[in-house]
Order: sequence, then structure tokens, then C-alpha cells
Amino acid sequence: MKLNNYRNLISVGIGFAILSFALPSCSLFGGDSTTGENEEAPEVHRVFIDSIHPDDTVYICTGSGSKRFHASDSCTGLNGCRKEVRGLTRREAENKKRTHCQICISDEQVE
Ligand SMILES: [Zn+2]
Repeated sequence: MKLNNYRNLISVGIGFAILSFALPSCSLFGGDSTTGENEEAPEVHRVFIDSIHPDDTVYICTGSGSKRFHASDSCTGLNGCRKEVRGLTRREAENKKRTHCQICISDEQVE
């Protein structure tokens, strides 16, 4: 009689706590995501408001009812835009009395 040997296939998953540093001088939206290990990636990557410089590009809907500016032109907050989505600098957007979108821009440092 033979005992069944259970072969435990141990998949070693080493979780590294990856500290994401805010790099204000780097291009915010490289769009070159090389890691495919995000378990549940949020639909919209939120950025810290202070990481957007006055000369950085933000996006607005030119519709008259729009009061926000967005860090990404693919923000879901722009889905309902009936007019044109246009890029401009944060400074220009704020000169237009635009406030930042709560969906794609965070008031707090994103961890
Ligand atoms: Zn947004």
C-alpha cells in the first residue's frame, strides 16, 4: 500500500512594498505601464493636486456647465462632456475659475 504524496506546489509570492514617490518634475503621464501585476487597478489613476505644476497640462470640457479641470483626458468625469475636451495648463484652468476634479485628482498625497 502506498500513501498518497501530496505535492504542494508552493507559489512563492513575495510582496514588495513599493513606495511610490511623488516625482513632481517628471512627466506625469508617461502612460508606459510595464507591470501587469495590479490586482485591482482603479479605473482612473488619481494624482496629487500639488504634483500638478501650473505649467502642466490639464484637461477641461469646454461645455458651459463644466467647472472642473482634469489630470487626464480619459477621466470618467469627462465622459459626459458634450463639447470639446481641451488641454491647457493648470494655471489657465484656474484662471477660468476651474477647480480640480475629485475623481482624478486627490487633495491628499496618494500612497
Ligand atoms: Zn477628472
